[in-house]
Amino acid sequence: MQLRLYDTLTREKRVFTPLDPANVRMYVCGPTVYDFAHIGNARPVIVFDVLFRMLRHLYGEKHVTYVRNITDVDDKINDRAACDFPGLPLNEAIREVTEQTANQFHADVDALGCLRPTVEPRATDFVLPRADGKADMVTLIKQLIARGHAYEAGGEVLFNVQSMPDYGALSGRKLDEQLAGARVAVDAHKKNPADFVLWKLSSENEPGWESPWGRGRPGWHIECSAMSAAYLGNVFDIHGGGLDLIFPHHENEIAQSRCAHGTAAMANYWMHNGFLEVEGAKMSKSLGNFVTIRELLNDWPGEALRLNMLKTHYRSPIDWTLKSLEENKRAVDSWYDIIGDDTQATGGADEDVLSLLGDDLNTSGAITRLHAIAASRTRYSGQAQIDIKRTLKVSAILLGLLGKTKTEYVKTDPKAVAVNKDVVDALLADRTAARARKDFKESDRIRDELAAMGVVIKDSKEGTTWEIAR
Ligand code: AMP
Ligand code: ZN
Repeated sequence: MQLRLYDTLTREKRVFTPLDPANVRMYVCGPTVYDFAHIGNARPVIVFDVLFRMLRHLYGEKHVTYVRNITDVDDKINDRAACDFPGLPLNEAIREVTEQTANQFHADVDALGCLRPTVEPRATDFVLPRADGKADMVTLIKQLIARGHAYEAGGEVLFNVQSMPDYGALSGRKLDEQLAGARVAVDAHKKNPADFVLWKLSSENEPGWESPWGRGRPGWHIECSAMSAAYLGNVFDIHGGGLDLIFPHHENEIAQSRCAHGTAAMANYWMHNGFLEVEGAKMSKSLGNFVTIRELLNDWPGEALRLNMLKTHYRSPIDWTLKSLEENKRAVDSWYDIIGDDTQATGGADEDVLSLLGDDLNTSGAITRLHAIAASRTRYSGQAQIDIKRTLKVSAILLGLLGKTKTEYVKTDPKAVAVNKDVVDALLADRTAARARKDFKESDRIRDELAAMGVVIKDSKEGTTWEIAR
């Protein structure tokens, strides 16, 4: 089976050939940890999780390295720290903010069914030269200066865009056009208005590291050049992120990495997801039209959110609506009704699902195929039907869906959890006790009480189980 991926740099869909099939390497820009992530931020996390799952399927779990960084140095973090923890020294306040936010982020994306990346480096661990000799930002900046690609001016170290003949190739922005279009007053210390910051000096109440250019902090782009090189080498297979990162972030990562290492490429495939939109506008913090992952998880099972995301091809915009969320919740419910509590995930994934996903992650096609597989079960009985249900489960797991049993799923469904699990368990224990002493009047009364709460119980030789009536 072939995997074909659309590459933003060459603007074509190409067969994916890893540099080393024994170690397929992918880097995705991760969150800036200062606040709850919104559902738009979840899109790259989910999309590249599907790609990670496909790569693991094709090359083997041990042969894929997925790096997603955590940006824990940023002026938005400093502001948040000063505001939320005014009593603490800045460094401690920053640590509080970043640790708390990173934990929230993990809990959120775990609930969305995302596998953890192989490594999750934090930017602040890669500012200064490291004891283990892995790539770091200060050394990269020194290399850029030594090779004539960067210069120090006005308390900053800047990348000299004119030193790189094909600067702008990823975004298709030509340097001349950028110059002609520059209306803002040119920063006097820059050789070219498009030159961007690699290092800037910090004031006393800003976080800073001692460097050859004084106490300062790195620009945003250099951190990804350092962390990708640290774990994936100077050239690797896939680099991903949202569409808004193409320029300036990824353009500048390419400039830094290629010029520091003298390589012809930083990554061989550049992949970008489209925006999640609300009524035609990109969901974003600044527009205020956002809903956090956490808020949505209060009302919806993670799998319904995930299915809603994957119904649209990753490069197209998604219109995020309640109506489609409701539809997708019903789809997940019905699939779990079909697969039930069978935990055996034997047999292979459906060939059509695999080839659809292999075609630049056609998740919407794959989901249509899952519905067809689910519907086809009624044409079979006995073992053949069990096998179809298992194919449904194994294939859906490639999309990060249906990895649980029905009972586990129901228990994570907030609409179901509106029924307090502890209360149900206590009532069930009372009922079991009533039955043991043959007080059937009381046991029936408890059953009716549970039914009134929407809880259906089933007695079998193994004991009593319960579920939410749908
Ligand atoms: P940020 O915190 O803005 O740096 O975004 C983190 C990641 O989420 C980046 O890969 C962005 O491209 C992505 N992202 C932000 N907003 C959206 C959106 N509305 N739809 C899709 N991806 C987004
Ligand atoms: Zn990045």
